[in-house]
Amino acid sequence: MQYPPSADRARISEIFSSLQGEGTHLGERHLFIRFEECHIQCTYCDEVKTGVEMTLDQVIEEVKRLEALEGPHAFVSLTGGEPLLYLVFLRSLLPALKNLELKVYLETNGILWQALEDVIGWCDVIAMDMKPASVTGDKNYDSDHRRFLQTAVQKEVFVKMVLSKEIFFTEYENEIRIIADIDPRIPVILQPISSRIEGHDDPELMELLGRLQRNGSQWASNIRIVPRFHKIFNLR
Ligand code: SF4
Repeated sequence: MQYPPSADRARISEIFSSLQGEGTHLGERHLFIRFEECHIQCTYCDEVKTGVEMTLDQVIEEVKRLEALEGPHAFVSLTGGEPLLYLVFLRSLLPALKNLELKVYLETNGILWQALEDVIGWCDVIAMDMKPASVTGDKNYDSDHRRFLQTAVQKEVFVKMVLSKEIFFTEYENEIRIIADIDPRIPVILQPISSRIEGHDDPELMELLGRLQRNGSQWASNIRIVPRFHKIFNLR
């Protein structure tokens, strides 16, 4: 990592209050802590590198301030970048959030399963990505995704797949079957990719997602198509 964390310090892009715009908790008010940096490279990544180093006390003070000003929040949402890169910091942050009686929602690319095993006891919801190589342009992480989901099912979990017209059907099917092997009832969110335009504005892509939803329903019983709500309504 360019800025390795410690138990007391991490590189944070922003802390803010907004509506959750993705997944099964759409529309809830969340307090977001966005960590800088990721360990993979998706071609569509829109992460802005505007982080600053913050101490644990500074993060907790900002969380308390926003909870008082704009709360109550349904969850503190850890997002990124990839929050699990900050394992050593999370071991300090997560118990502190629990002491404030806040619930933790972890948004993750679903790869760093060893780190998840370490912190899952403090998490309430896992919003896990599966990253098909045919869409991300990175390598295929299916064996890591499988191990990650095997741990994540201890808690409330859903899987999000960001999909473009480049998706290979065989890769998609394989990932749906990994999910269904663990539990066919795990919600799967198919999210149209956002690059040049927001994906929901692309009728061909939405039609393709409909076909993928029908196909995947042979194995998984809860596949939904959900565009990014915060982009449609121009929220933060
Ligand atoms: S996992 Fe997320 S943060 Fe990491 S490169 Fe992909 S889109 Fe960007």
